[in-house]
Amino acid sequence: MGVVSYLSRPKEHCMAKNVEDFDANLAGEEGQSEEAKSSWFKRIKKGILTSTAEKKETPEGLWVKCPECNFICTVNDLREHLFTCPKCNHHHRIGSSEYFEILFDNPNFEVMFENILSKDFLQFTDLKSYQKRLEETWKKTDLTDSIRVAAGKVNDEPLVIGCMDFEFIGGSLGSVMGERISRAIDYCLRHRTPLLIICKSGGARMMESAFSLMQLAKVSGKLSQLTDAKIPYISLLTDPSFGGISASFGMLGDLNIAEPGALIGFAGPRVIKETIKKDLPEGFQRSEFLLDHGFLDFIVDRKNLKSKISTLLGLFRN
Ligand SMILES: [Zn+2]
Repeated sequence: MGVVSYLSRPKEHCMAKNVEDFDANLAGEEGQSEEAKSSWFKRIKKGILTSTAEKKETPEGLWVKCPECNFICTVNDLREHLFTCPKCNHHHRIGSSEYFEILFDNPNFEVMFENILSKDFLQFTDLKSYQKRLEETWKKTDLTDSIRVAAGKVNDEPLVIGCMDFEFIGGSLGSVMGERISRAIDYCLRHRTPLLIICKSGGARMMESAFSLMQLAKVSGKLSQLTDAKIPYISLLTDPSFGGISASFGMLGDLNIAEPGALIGFAGPRVIKETIKKDLPEGFQRSEFLLDHGFLDFIVDRKNLKSKISTLLGLFRN
């Protein structure tokens, strides 16, 4: 007992003194002159001079770090650069609403086939049931499936765009994506409008198993109807475009184009490396590598995307 009281008493005193000192330092009131107290930070003018109207709102969470060069900028800055890094031109991953905003002339484009929704016809369960996964994703993302289709004008050229959203179960190709593309093609045939598909997907949706795989044949077949009608189809591959997408309609465009630095392939590099037991060349599966090896027609910077697409559409039309 005696030992305890001997130890605890001085400690209390000591703590109390520390607290006092700390408070005094915070307030800058330790009997020092104004100069000495704040020599590390001197306010030149007193008070806050910015009027409320001039203050800029910077809500939390609006800063973005470039994964390539670590450059930090605000979302607004990034939006002005069409979601490419202002420093290194890294193309950030964006979704259908951003692509529609970038490409269509005004917000008067028409989003179609949103009423077609996925169904768990195989009663598939992995970590959770497919039905539950769908409901959670619908609630979380405001998207109805992994592709959105819209018709509008790009620099006055009519165009139907199908754009994938990676946010929705990895942009996976299921029966809904197949059906929406198929109906988009029917629309293109009826209105003689060209088609652009912006790919961003990990591949087929395993929860729909063979139904996913059938979409590859279905979409490829529908695309041949476009070819017969001499209506152009452009495939834009963005980061990442993998699996069934790149194995079918992703590479079936009259023009297959890509964004810079996009990863495009069938299987991932790790799987290939383990299969062939060889080191892969530098830049393997990047769009620049694919362009060199004849898989792509050209690479387009997102800042030139709209003008390039409309020029192409004009050339096709004439
Ligand atoms: Zn960067």
